[in-house]
Amino acid sequence: MDESSFGGESSEPPSVGPEHDDPPGSSGNVSVLTVAEGTAAKSKPYQNGKLSVLNLVRNAAPPTTASRQKPANGHAVAEKVAASNRLPDRNGVRLDAAHHAGTSPRKENPLTIQFRERFYPDATDEDWDDWRWQSRHRIKTLEQFERILELSNEERDVLSDGGTLLPTAVTPYYMSLLDPENPLQALRKTVVPTTREFVRTPGEADDPLGEDGHSPVPGLVHRYPDRVLLLPLDFCSTYCRYCTRSRVVGHGEIQPNVERLEAIFHYLEEATQVRDVLISGGDPLALSDEKLDWIIGRLRQIPHIEFIRIGTKMPAVLPQRITPELCTMLRKYHPIWMSVHYLHPEECTVESKQACERLIDAGIPLGSQTVLLKGVNDEVEIMKELVHKLLLMRVRPYYLYQCDPISGSSHFRTPVSKGLEIIQGLRGFTTGYAVPTFVIDAPGGGGKIPLQVDSVIGRDGDDLLLRNFEGKTFRYPDPIAT
Ligand code: SF4
Repeated sequence: MDESSFGGESSEPPSVGPEHDDPPGSSGNVSVLTVAEGTAAKSKPYQNGKLSVLNLVRNAAPPTTASRQKPANGHAVAEKVAASNRLPDRNGVRLDAAHHAGTSPRKENPLTIQFRERFYPDATDEDWDDWRWQSRHRIKTLEQFERILELSNEERDVLSDGGTLLPTAVTPYYMSLLDPENPLQALRKTVVPTTREFVRTPGEADDPLGEDGHSPVPGLVHRYPDRVLLLPLDFCSTYCRYCTRSRVVGHGEIQPNVERLEAIFHYLEEATQVRDVLISGGDPLALSDEKLDWIIGRLRQIPHIEFIRIGTKMPAVLPQRITPELCTMLRKYHPIWMSVHYLHPEECTVESKQACERLIDAGIPLGSQTVLLKGVNDEVEIMKELVHKLLLMRVRPYYLYQCDPISGSSHFRTPVSKGLEIIQGLRGFTTGYAVPTFVIDAPGGGGKIPLQVDSVIGRDGDDLLLRNFEGKTFRYPDPIAT
């Protein structure tokens, strides 16, 4: 996507199994994990769609910590030592003993702890923290979803019939944040498909931003004079049901092969007006460090390219991807900026915070792009909680997007007035840094258009009449030039 929309790059046929889940351009060892059957007794960690840590504790399944760290020699003693090294902190966040000693940064939120104990008792911390393991064990089929969630009819029908524009996949980590019993939970709505995706309404299009008409080379969108969108792959670890690039994401047509990327680099070498490259599309961080290193290094060889940005949802859906090694690689290429994608405060876990902190500590500024979605984040209080949490994670809320009219998205779209209402509820009522710019990406390639509640309400002689956040009118001396 251009930076306005998340969408983009991915590659997998719609219903491939977990054994095919290594992203193209990544590499890694295959490890085997079986989702525990018969351990799917459901608790109620949420009440009315809200997380309740209290209920989590009350309903916690008997711990099976012995299996969480595989002893090197299989001795029970080693298992006990590993289990005793896991200490809950005051907030129920699990930290390992080494972390308390300041040598290890590993953290885990309460929902994920409980989820792992129920559904992945055989996964070690090393497995769970391995982003390639997460990618290979994504939940994609009806049977896999049914082991974990109580599916609504709308969810079951679409998962059994298929036929959606966008494939379905959720990382085990992100799945651990979903409410197993409530199909109306915000995060669940954004990643579990429903039959409402089959409803097409007037004004919708598969390519609402007209990107395909601005693509001089496959995998490159050149819509603005000085900046381009580079799509290295169409693979995402988790597919967002409102993705602007549903038409291409996950279809396996955009592969990160050298020949295609070299054609892009050659175009950019000639296009001397281009100074800014956004690498996005699917999720570029699904590439291996080595592949990403090569792509960014190749861009850095082009003298007129000054600014490189990466668009990713990894810190929210697969924070395990943000490894120290990745950060070390990225910092070679500064200035690198990153647009991260957060929707809801429940995505702001300790794991996600840690991922953002690693990137920021590597000198990469983070700006969040949030899509306004009906029934997900279309309330002032939810958005306020999100932007506050983002600031605490040192992420600047950057854009709030009106949901693009992609095919089958009417159940996600709010009236434009809702976005204005949210901005009005933030501006003046919270820190200025916390207030994103509300934009519409104009259909047909018109670019981003910022929207705001009118603050200039008129003129009285040499005075400009202004309205403040409380709705009060003020005069500002602004003589008309003669
Ligand atoms: S992370 Fe989500 S919004 Fe972004 S390209 Fe992938 S599916 Fe689309």
